[in-house]
Amino acid sequence: MSKYIPDVSSHRWVIVSPHRISRPGGDGKKPVCPLCMGHEKMTPPEVLRYGGGAANKPGWQVRVIPNLYPITDDHEVIVHSPDPDKDIEILPLPHVKLIFTAYRQRYNFYKKKGQVIIFCNHGEYAGASLSHPHSQLVVIPSQINLDTLSQEPLNNMVDANNFFNVYCPDFSQWPYELWIVPKKPGTVFGDITDEEMADLAEITQKMLNRMLHIYKEEHVTKMPFSYNYYIYPKENWYFRLIPRFIHRAGFELGTGLSVNIVDPIDAAMEYAGMERKVVHVLKKLKKYNK
Ligand SMILES: [Zn+2]
Repeated sequence: MSKYIPDVSSHRWVIVSPHRISRPGGDGKKPVCPLCMGHEKMTPPEVLRYGGGAANKPGWQVRVIPNLYPITDDHEVIVHSPDPDKDIEILPLPHVKLIFTAYRQRYNFYKKKGQVIIFCNHGEYAGASLSHPHSQLVVIPSQINLDTLSQEPLNNMVDANNFFNVYCPDFSQWPYELWIVPKKPGTVFGDITDEEMADLAEITQKMLNRMLHIYKEEHVTKMPFSYNYYIYPKENWYFRLIPRFIHRAGFELGTGLSVNIVDPIDAAMEYAGMERKVVHVLKKLKKYNK
């Protein structure tokens, strides 16, 4: 059982969850993948499935199961697809939409119970303990104060479609982080319509591919391509996508201050497809004009 411990002076909490240590990879051995098609017996019974086949048998496209090593009482795993190698960057768009539809179904299932946070760790350096693409959903009691950002003001625009804007906020804590926000204010994620969902799938895939392009072109890191994203659990929701191009170190841990080595203005221009040269020229112009 997990317990919540408050800090004496701030409004921050820590979750003490000792059984998490027994999760796959926790003992250093390479486990058989329980998320692959045909291994349904290795997981607890599913709570949702999209696709064909009988419950807890092969044939599914997206599958949701309780987490065997939960952080809190309600902790689920959303398996993106039966394919252990394909993630949102390359899955067909209707499939990406199906993953987000599963998010919505589970969000709405739990929304009265607490704060529903949905997140994804993609790649070893983003903290994924199983490489098979999946997301997680955790319900945190309403009385626990979350140290999470509210929607940042819209600037440094990257892209947009019918229902969403994409930008690199001035307050970017990580190099090349991206925020996808609905144009319609005042909603929670569970309110998203099917039409909006298609747009979200499209723009998320597009942005992940641009991120991958920057990763390959800029040689920003020797680490494998990794990223995290999460969906803000409250009103005025946003989808925050953070590539793991850097490690956080002692200074950040000691101060709570983030050092961002890439100006979000430059990051936005790169995402928007402007050449690096152009970015430098624009930067010089900007300095000159000050
Ligand atoms: Zn697998």
